[in-house]
Amino acid sequence: MNIEEIIQKLYDKIKLVDDKGHLASYIPELENVNSESFGVHISTLNNLNFGVGNCYDKFSIQSIVKVLSLIMAYSLLGEKLWNRVKVEPSGTAFNSLIQLEVENGIPRNPFINAGALVIADILLSHLNKPKEDFLGFVKKLSDSKEIGYSARIATSEKNVGYRNAALCNLIKSFENIENEPSEVLDFYYNLCSLEMSCEGLSKLFLFLANDGFTLVDNKQILTRSQTKRINAIMQTCGFYDESGEFAFKVGLPGKSGVGGGIVAVHPKHYAIAVWSPKLNKKGNSYKGIRFLEDFTTETEISIF
Ligand code: GLU
Repeated sequence: MNIEEIIQKLYDKIKLVDDKGHLASYIPELENVNSESFGVHISTLNNLNFGVGNCYDKFSIQSIVKVLSLIMAYSLLGEKLWNRVKVEPSGTAFNSLIQLEVENGIPRNPFINAGALVIADILLSHLNKPKEDFLGFVKKLSDSKEIGYSARIATSEKNVGYRNAALCNLIKSFENIENEPSEVLDFYYNLCSLEMSCEGLSKLFLFLANDGFTLVDNKQILTRSQTKRINAIMQTCGFYDESGEFAFKVGLPGKSGVGGGIVAVHPKHYAIAVWSPKLNKKGNSYKGIRFLEDFTTETEISIF
């Protein structure tokens, strides 16, 4: 069976599976989605672009954006970045405050909210027009014209963002946030509100399978070593408190978001994106994880 046939077969199978997940409800607007949506899209280095289901529908990528903001900050600051945020899995919930207090405001990794807030702060300090500049950076990574912020989602999250505000203020008290917390939070909510489709995501993340070179114009975004490091952080920290299990069952670096999206990268081969909005108990797409688990089992190619 070729890749297209495997994707179609697994899609047809998993679409019928009883979805035990639930929509993320803590951001009210995230419930405003068709909970049965299910899409998959793959982009490979040998020019295969193939998708099924709702693969062209845009959705809220939420924490998947944390990979992109990290990459932009890394390309601006280089290795100095790691003085502000570490690269260790947290083993706690993505929005937990517990470790921050004992670890002096240095977040465990850039993919938990605390770390992503520090990254947002770094971008705010270095960009003239943070929202526009970040969007421009992301658009350069692929030829996708579809990417944009959702004011509706950003406002919905801001209205209930008590925990993120607590995180940001706590980090500020340890002097690891330079800007005003309200500005950092505003930028962070906009980042998380970015909307894209599975097609857009798989095309965009393909440069991480290509040693850091974009496919559209062969531009080097990260060095080979930096690209390897981003993939390593996705592998160890990309799935909240389910990162170990994802490595165990799927075996690919990747990142999920509470909008139900998952993107995974097979270095030197492909990037694949899956979207199904209902989340399992750990906050990852129920069907998305099921699909990727079966996909790497069927294709029998693993990074391990
Ligand atoms: N904007 C969300 C939050 O801060 C992102 C969560 C996620 O996708 O993990 O809670």
